Amino acid sequence: MQKRAEEFMQEVIRKNPGEIEFHQAVREVVEAVMDHYGANPKYVKARVLERMTEPERVIMFRVPWLNDKGEVMINRGYRVEMSSAIGPYKGGLRFHPTVTLGMLKFLAFEQVFKNSLTTLPMGGGKGGSDFDPKGKSDNEVMKFCQSFMTELSRHIGPDTDVPAGDIGVGGREIGYMFGQYKRLRNEFTGVLTGKGLNWGGSLIRPEATGYGCVYFVQEMLKTRGEGIKGKICTVSGSGNVAQYTVEKVNQLKGKCVTLSDSDGTIYDPEGICEEKLTYVMELKNEKRGRISEYAKKYKSAKYLSGKRPWGIKCDIAFPSATQNEINGADAKELVRNGCYAIGEGANMPTTPEGIEVFQKSKILYAPGKAANAGGVATSGLEMSQNSERLSWTREEVEERLHNIMISIHNSCVKYGKEGKYVNYVKGANIAGFVKVARAMLDQGLV
Ligand code: NAP
Repeated sequence: MQKRAEEFMQEVIRKNPGEIEFHQAVREVVEAVMDHYGANPKYVKARVLERMTEPERVIMFRVPWLNDKGEVMINRGYRVEMSSAIGPYKGGLRFHPTVTLGMLKFLAFEQVFKNSLTTLPMGGGKGGSDFDPKGKSDNEVMKFCQSFMTELSRHIGPDTDVPAGDIGVGGREIGYMFGQYKRLRNEFTGVLTGKGLNWGGSLIRPEATGYGCVYFVQEMLKTRGEGIKGKICTVSGSGNVAQYTVEKVNQLKGKCVTLSDSDGTIYDPEGICEEKLTYVMELKNEKRGRISEYAKKYKSAKYLSGKRPWGIKCDIAFPSATQNEINGADAKELVRNGCYAIGEGANMPTTPEGIEVFQKSKILYAPGKAANAGGVATSGLEMSQNSERLSWTREEVEERLHNIMISIHNSCVKYGKEGKYVNYVKGANIAGFVKVARAMLDQGLV
């Protein structure tokens, strides 16, 4: 089967030259599902895997806008509509200077399996731009978002494609894009998720990815008769996912000792308590400052310039910043220092070498497509509330999120059990694959 997976990959690489993150994401899935795939001649005959790795549609467009000096700026916008086998395309928008088509294809591909795991009817997509909101005024961000949405609005809709936030796209950006969509289409619909609470957003959506990731790790720990209480956790990033990961760990009486951004890491051995987290949220979400300022405010903390958190001793690590942020050497260091559970809040934060280290050492390793699915799951719940024109209570949404994370964990165990060990990578990929593949067979050659 390994040979078959390799041949398949050679064709993917040939057809998608230079898209290394996409190759990496496809390889992980193909290697995990190939035995199962090969044992089902119906899948092979219908060339289900080949179709899954070809986006249904890719939209790429120019985004012109004027900066505060009145100068003309040009960015590139994208939407990758990867699969609508089980529901409308659904997935975030990323605004970051590193965004390329290949990166968005990797994210859209991952999203298909993740959305399938949530138990909700959502297909997979992803989009964004190489625009960098960092250092831009609110006015510039608004101008960009309006121009971006002017084109994107032709391709999305509440029953077609429903984008959300991702890196660089938070409540502010969703607000500007929603406003422009409404103005162009003259309709108030649930075309985006992550909306503000006063205009169609769901309670718990901002918290959902971080909370869901901690719930998933809690389920993994339960298989060893343990819980989050008393555990030392390292967290990377300091954005949406990182912030609410820390909040949920605190609620469950664990202790987070790190946060980071692209410049460096803060290490606070006393823990990032509720009061310190409130400071971080204000620093990052309102002042849009750097994490190094935390170490100036709190004397208990050290700032490690240019460093990632993986050299700090911990029980559990929550990579919550970006792709490929844990390499093979980082993974070895984590394991050597006693880390025995990983919950990936970010998408594909561990390189293939790193994954191999975690799997060989048989620690509890939850890949992003399972562990961070709580965000999109709650976006799905936001879509349900929009369709009903009702808002559910905080408790109701959080309970549903919690149950979805338990259900995703159970699916991973069902398909990933290898004796006493659960291979969560295999479990998540096969469970996600099966639902989409069956829908594709039912719907014929489209
Ligand atoms: P965010 O609020 O924009 O925060 C991103 C954080 O990661 C920031 O601290 C940022 O630091 C850091 N970061 C970004 N690019 C980096 C790089 N190249 N190197 C080092 N640090 C980097 O984004 P987010 O929503 O928390 O997303 C974080 C991760 O979670 C992403 O992988 C995203 O795809 C994934 N995810 C998010 C959701 C969601 O609901 N938001 C759901 C599922 C998965 P700087 O400020 O220095 O850039």
